[in-house]
Amino acid sequence: MYPTATTIDEFHANIADVRARIDAAAERAGRLPADVRLLPVSKTVPEERVELAIAAGCTELGENKVQEAERKHANLAHRDVAWSVIGHLQTNKAKNVAAFASEFQALDSLRVAEALDRRLQAAGRALDVYVQVNTSGEESKYGLSPADLPGLLRALPQFTSLRVRGLMTLAVFSDDADRVRPCFALLRDLRDRIRDEDPGLIGDGHLSMGMSGDYELAVTEGATCVRVGQAIFGARPTSDSYYWPS
Ligand SMILES: *Cc1c(COP(=O)(O)O)cnc(C)c1O
Repeated sequence: MYPTATTIDEFHANIADVRARIDAAAERAGRLPADVRLLPVSKTVPEERVELAIAAGCTELGENKVQEAERKHANLAHRDVAWSVIGHLQTNKAKNVAAFASEFQALDSLRVAEALDRRLQAAGRALDVYVQVNTSGEESKYGLSPADLPGLLRALPQFTSLRVRGLMTLAVFSDDADRVRPCFALLRDLRDRIRDEDPGLIGDGHLSMGMSGDYELAVTEGATCVRVGQAIFGARPTSDSYYWPS
């Protein structure tokens, strides 16, 4: 279903196709295509192929695992790429993220916020962050429950090296749009409610939601960032349960 891109031309074609679908979905929803950012996700893809994606125009890349992101950041240091860590983080890896990442999209606890801020302050760096919310109610998914979101957002301003940009979620994995859509709509509603009550708490109010299987639906529901791996790089051999236990 997702052919593997092995040349710069194939990357060009895949990226153009995804971009065109994003733009069309935005227009259908009466939104501006330019308001939707495409974050290519290169997890499991070896550096040789990541280089081709960069040559095809990728300037930022998402990775789920810190170690893999760190390795690629080092091996591709000669390239001008911003690295976004989009997977759950343990506090003992905060130092690593603070050292190289441009963005962290899976902030889900005060402990991780504290650990990141401490390491960032020491390094004299700042980091864009998204707070991850569990919108599907599945035990297996990382992220805060919607009820816990306002409390964490109120605590974040004390961590001055963290720049809150918005919210992130993973929808339920399903081909049934009627099950997926409510996850995206919930994230948008949470953002809207917080913005009404205290606009200072949620930065730009960005919504990072949508992956290869559901990014058009996410754009229709208000996504301002979609994280797309397989539709650009090709099908992944690794089971998704490696990234989110099921
Ligand atoms: C892998 C991953 C994606 C992209 O998934 P694809 O199916 O490859 O598009 C998006 N978000 C997160 C958090 C991921 O780990």
